[in-house]
Amino acid sequence: MKTINDLSIAEISDFLVANNEKSFRAKQIYQWIWQKNVTDFAAMTNLSAALRKILEANFSIRSIRIEQEYVSQDGTRKYILRLFDQQQIEMVLIPSQQRTTVCISSQVGCSLGCKFCATGSMGFKRNLHADEIYQQVFLANELSQQHYGTHLSNIVLMGMGEPLLNLDNVSKAIDMITGKDGMEMSPSRITLSTAGIPTKLSRLAALQPNIGLAVSLHAADPTKRKTIMPIANTYSIAELVAALKDYHKTTKQRITIEYLLLKNINDSLDDAQLLANLCKNFPVKINLINYNSHPHSAFQPTTKEQQEAFAELLESKNMLVYVRQSKGQDIAAACGQLVNKRQNGNK
Ligand code: SF4
Repeated sequence: MKTINDLSIAEISDFLVANNEKSFRAKQIYQWIWQKNVTDFAAMTNLSAALRKILEANFSIRSIRIEQEYVSQDGTRKYILRLFDQQQIEMVLIPSQQRTTVCISSQVGCSLGCKFCATGSMGFKRNLHADEIYQQVFLANELSQQHYGTHLSNIVLMGMGEPLLNLDNVSKAIDMITGKDGMEMSPSRITLSTAGIPTKLSRLAALQPNIGLAVSLHAADPTKRKTIMPIANTYSIAELVAALKDYHKTTKQRITIEYLLLKNINDSLDDAQLLANLCKNFPVKINLINYNSHPHSAFQPTTKEQQEAFAELLESKNMLVYVRQSKGQDIAAACGQLVNKRQNGNK
């Protein structure tokens, strides 16, 4: 049976015409699926009972549902979401004074195996469909209103998975999040975070030039980067920098550099100097994040003094630096902590 979420309005319209139904119903069906997120044809109350029966007989609706919710002392909420095929992903809702941000997943698991990342330790299961990415945002907007009394304001593709390895579906989901037939959110409120796949950046710039880009660099020294991010064995830092320069030329966007401070690994002042050199290639904002320990890795967070010295060196080179406080550590919702504990049998 086909899944209706995979069909465009034109394809739904073709199906309706072939079944002697009016083609304008396609838009109504599309709105039920994407703008109202219904999971049952019976809920499409402006369609005739006969048409609903035809749809039921020919299509399924793919949906996600909340399996479990964890609430942190700082207000962060982590959700385990169950997919149609029983796979699970995680989504994190992060409130702050001015906004609510959702961190969403783009894949079930991840193939890149970054050594500091809990998701990397679970391996890759599958890509998410565009509607599964979109539905996380839809759900997050409802949850934000329910728990914080405000609409969702920002979206970061920073949860499970490498978004650039599922770019077609990610881009389709962004089109729906920002489009008139979807949620009409501004693309400037969306940030895609990548481990750095240089070969995909020109396509991203062509498809989504108005969203933000964050690169998880975590080391500017090529040897060190290889030890913590296996993807650096496939693509060198030089290739990544060249692709980022082109990306900036096309999009004119300031690039966010994410840098996780790992004690005695990448937190020396020499590491900070190398990072400063790299960041001269294009306008950047640097996010320094202290490491969140988790049972899947032996890395340690850096000390507060070292973090400050690292940030000061960058600031002395006129870099824009933010020391980010990771939220939701007590519920394993912070950066690098997302892993499906149930699937791994740890719980
Ligand atoms: S940090 Fe991102 S790219 Fe690396 S393993 Fe984790 S989810 Fe994958």
